[in-house]
Amino acid sequence: MRSIALFGGTFNPVHYGHLHFARACLERFLFEELWLIPACIPPHKVAEDLASERDRLEMLRLGISGESRMRVSDVEYRLGGKSYTIYTLEQLSREEPDGEFTLLIGSDMLLSFDRWFRWEEILQRARLLAAARMERDLPLLQKKRDSFGSLAERVTIAEIPVLPLSSTEIREAIRAGKDCRPLLPDTVADYIREKGLYRKKEVFYAFILTNH
Ligand code: ATP
Repeated sequence: MRSIALFGGTFNPVHYGHLHFARACLERFLFEELWLIPACIPPHKVAEDLASERDRLEMLRLGISGESRMRVSDVEYRLGGKSYTIYTLEQLSREEPDGEFTLLIGSDMLLSFDRWFRWEEILQRARLLAAARMERDLPLLQKKRDSFGSLAERVTIAEIPVLPLSSTEIREAIRAGKDCRPLLPDTVADYIREKGLYRKKEVFYAFILTNH
């Protein structure tokens, strides 16, 4: 079996918060590879200034260059539509029959995980690694995990510090004409500038039906 960590998101654009987190997971856990998976249409939020699929994928590719154990997967683009995690896992199980998958999620996502679409089946197909930002978050997360009954053993909670950064603040900085270079790799910043991304605000409405 091949142990593969899956890190999904909008990545609009990818930034050092994502990359630092992905590196920390690879360092601390025995994953052979970590795949970053940009969502086609994020099901859980109204995405502002959503760059095209191609641009988000290209920025991710640039962002991980030199990271030998990271890959970018276009599986959710190929599936199309809203990117529900269970469909992604079903597809990846077909494509990578020897893959042993672990989903990386943030602590806030663990708290609402049992509202995700077909969440029990997600846990049957993948383990979860839930990252707590701070030690004081651990008891609440552990309580949540225990509420999953027999599936609780599929969930690992680990304290993984994160950089306080978001794609939203990068898009806002670009719109305001500020320098965002300290927040993301130079190659990604150059790509954004060359393509003129995020200079003006457009709202992309993904109608919210259910989580993931
Ligand atoms: P936005 O500001 O547009 O909502 P974002 O910065 O939160 O974007 P996403 O693409 O939505 O980024 O996130 C992808 C994944 O990365 C999610 O699982 C999210 O929890 C995680 N993530 C986001 N920011 C950080 C960060 N600074 N450190 C670690 N993980 C992060």
